[in-house]
Amino acid sequence: MTVQQSDLKLDGNAIGGLLREIFTMEMTAAIGTCAHCGTLHAVGEVEVYMNAPGVVVRCPSCGEVQMKVVRGHGKYWLDLSGVRCLEFSAG
Ligand SMILES: [Zn+2]
Repeated sequence: MTVQQSDLKLDGNAIGGLLREIFTMEMTAAIGTCAHCGTLHAVGEVEVYMNAPGVVVRCPSCGEVQMKVVRGHGKYWLDLSGVRCLEFSAG
């Protein structure tokens, strides 16, 4: 998946609803550790590029891809390879 300069850039709150479909809890307050630079960011702080049919999430510190989410044909594809650790409250 390539990201063009013209892609619509949003903050992490833009994917709150999408992540809520996948996880059973509110995820925008979750803290992700970037696998590339090790910086911690709340999901609500990341850079989101809406790139139909998928979403690309980039680290606001180093700009590397943290997460890719594609939804289609009744399925989700969730690539979290750029997130070393995701911390969120239990219930
Ligand atoms: Zn980073």
